[in-house]
Amino acid sequence: MKRILITGALGQIGSELTGKLREQYGADHVVATDIRKNESEAAQAGPFEILDVTDGEKMLEIAKKYQVDTVIHMAALLSATAEANPVFAWNLNMGGLMNALETARELDGKFFTPSSIGAFGPTTPKDQTPQDTIQRPTTMYGVNKVAGELLSDYYYHKFGVDTRGLRFPGLISYVAPPGGGTTDYAVEIYYEAIKNGQYTSYIDKGTYMDMMYMPDALNAIVNLLEADPSKLKHRNSFNVTAMSFDPEQIAAEIKKHIPQFQMSYQVDPIRQKIADSWPNSIDASAATEEWGFKAEYDLAKMTTDMLDKLKVKLQPVQE
Ligand code: NAD
Repeated sequence: MKRILITGALGQIGSELTGKLREQYGADHVVATDIRKNESEAAQAGPFEILDVTDGEKMLEIAKKYQVDTVIHMAALLSATAEANPVFAWNLNMGGLMNALETARELDGKFFTPSSIGAFGPTTPKDQTPQDTIQRPTTMYGVNKVAGELLSDYYYHKFGVDTRGLRFPGLISYVAPPGGGTTDYAVEIYYEAIKNGQYTSYIDKGTYMDMMYMPDALNAIVNLLEADPSKLKHRNSFNVTAMSFDPEQIAAEIKKHIPQFQMSYQVDPIRQKIADSWPNSIDASAATEEWGFKAEYDLAKMTTDMLDKLKVKLQPVQE
């Protein structure tokens, strides 16, 4: 990986991934792109181009301009937002992916895009969901992710594009806000715990979903991209996870640091239905065996770090 192009670089994952890759490979070697621009480090600390991923010609033009050899495709509509606007989601998620795969093929490059636990559905085994299993999702996001996994495998088999992917669980971070997923509650809860000492959860008690702290997700992307291809039996996409919890468990963990913290529930039927169709916990052993995946953060370690970092971030600015 000498020159990397990232789409959706200002999103929850992209904004931190861009910084990590620039540290590792050199700022000039990582071209951040997004449909919008802001004042973030990802947009300011190295090459940045405005790019709508549905514009395949422009994507290829930018990739050629910077002599890109690796495409990391992040731009997408997430689960809850996609469910509210399914046709738009199909066009963006599938159109953008196709353009990104074509760009990687034209440049004979490497390719990474995330799938999700949303690629599973109500008929998937719910506990310790295996790497290879039934995938019949009932959301537009899930349909896009399954199609994306298959399309990425197709580009590997048909055209020899070195495609690799991860099925991410809900990702928790303190840098950029989440972009409309079903697991966003597990980020919001930390902000609200510090700001107001209480949180109203839109996900019901007893709803277990897999989660992972952002540093583990970023390491997983880099380690998979650097993995020896001869060891990979799977490609698109690997189950990865660090923990599985329900809202009560994360609330109990926060209470250890903020004893007065109060949790209440006002369940959102749309996001609850999506959550109910996803696994309780997934099995990441294929990722461990094939390229050494390991997560460092469990719920306790993540909660300590999130609260420490957010207390600093949310401090009122001193005049
Ligand atoms: P996000 O919503 O935070 O960011 C998406 C970015 O894409 C935004 O910066 C947005 O401006 C940009 N974008 C939107 N439309 C665009 C377009 N037409 N052209 C170019 N850019 C556009 O998303 P994220 O959380 O960073 O997720 C990135 C990828 O990871 C997605 O494929 C998502 O499905 C997957 N994923 C995320 C999670 C998670 O918990 N964050 C979990 C599983 C999978």
